[in-house]
Amino acid sequence: LPVNNYQFGSHPQAGQICGKTYAERLFDHRGMDGCFPGCNLRCTKGGWVTLTTGMHVGRKVWVDGPEYETAAGFGSNLGMWRPEFIMEANWHCDNYGIDTITTAVIMAFLMECYQRGYLVKEDTDGFTLTWGDEQTALQFIYDLACRKTELARIAGQGMVELTAWVAEQYAARTGRPKPVKELQQFAMQTKGLPFSLYRTHRSLSMQASYAAASDIGAHHAAAWLVKVDLLGAFPTFEAKAKALITYPRVRLGNDNLGLCKLPWVDVFNPDSLKRGDTDVYINPASQELYADFYNGMLGTTLTWEKIFEQTDHDINLQRVMNVLSFGAATGERDWIPDRAIGPTDDALYEREADYNDRVLSTVLNKSLSEVQVMETGEKRAVLMNHRKEELRKLIDVYYRQRGWTDTGIPKVDTLKQIGLWQYLSDEAKKSITGMNG
Ligand code: SF4
Repeated sequence: LPVNNYQFGSHPQAGQICGKTYAERLFDHRGMDGCFPGCNLRCTKGGWVTLTTGMHVGRKVWVDGPEYETAAGFGSNLGMWRPEFIMEANWHCDNYGIDTITTAVIMAFLMECYQRGYLVKEDTDGFTLTWGDEQTALQFIYDLACRKTELARIAGQGMVELTAWVAEQYAARTGRPKPVKELQQFAMQTKGLPFSLYRTHRSLSMQASYAAASDIGAHHAAAWLVKVDLLGAFPTFEAKAKALITYPRVRLGNDNLGLCKLPWVDVFNPDSLKRGDTDVYINPASQELYADFYNGMLGTTLTWEKIFEQTDHDINLQRVMNVLSFGAATGERDWIPDRAIGPTDDALYEREADYNDRVLSTVLNKSLSEVQVMETGEKRAVLMNHRKEELRKLIDVYYRQRGWTDTGIPKVDTLKQIGLWQYLSDEAKKSITGMNG
């Protein structure tokens, strides 16, 4: 559970915003709750809440959700522990037509900027955002949607622009250098897209998923590996890299056909456990059923793996588009902020010292008691360097398995093999050939 801009991973008040609380106190069922009548999972949910702010204050409104991302984004990650607030924030975002993940993660970044003194109220016309302050949070959502203040206007441009602006404010106020690198450690975005609400410290696969497996940025749909990685499903770099390829195939395959992946992947089919020679967590027994329907509809005889492998066109096309925009430096954007890798200061190391010390004990091949007497700063540096090296290694293996160069450029042979090359413009072909070396 991300808490206060992913600084912490748990909180004693978490029970106040868990699913059981919503189910018992707030959710209401209004007949057919699925996206369409044929869905037998019907995961849609919602409830009523009375608005405390805005032009409709006092009105009782129906809120569609919140989904997990919104619940964690406006809840624990902002230090908020009242589901009614989360539902109201959800409603305002829906009403203004703005994305809840981006809004919430931008707000978490700003709250941490105020917490750490990178912003003070003098920078923002007396306005501040602080952990757990519901009313100013709701005010900010309104300001953001209506571009009411300079802060809201810049925030609306995105995390990258906002980070640069905060650095400028700080430098102008203090006369010190712009703290761009410090801010980038906890400005939670990749390729400009704010993170969804997975805290990735303990899952190398999930780190690589956010860093490299999605060319649109830190998107949770690319590969949602955190849980199965922690269960030990991918013990080697090769296995982790393979999962970074196969999971997005299933997601994209469903998206491309206008289908929802949830019933096929997230409802575990017990027969999948009988498939000993494959990754059981991707739910192969249900994927086989899916292939039967697909083949029956289209007159094909494809396995589910072959059906979803077709999405390699999408992934490589997205990559080609990135390469055409960012050139040889495309691979440099395949990275995540330090906050997504581990503790960004000594106090955060100490908050999870038991776990961190145990990891270091293995990394350094020292006894736990030997690790415990080391200086926190030294331990943190070793841990962060180790995790960054591991992430770099995993991304390199991922590039190799994708058939990309070691700088993350699709190889000409790969694009030819999947049948994409013939559709590229002469300019794109020339550019990619040049970067293939
Ligand atoms: S499982 Fe998918 S299709 Fe069914 S209600 Fe949920 S989101 Fe909609």
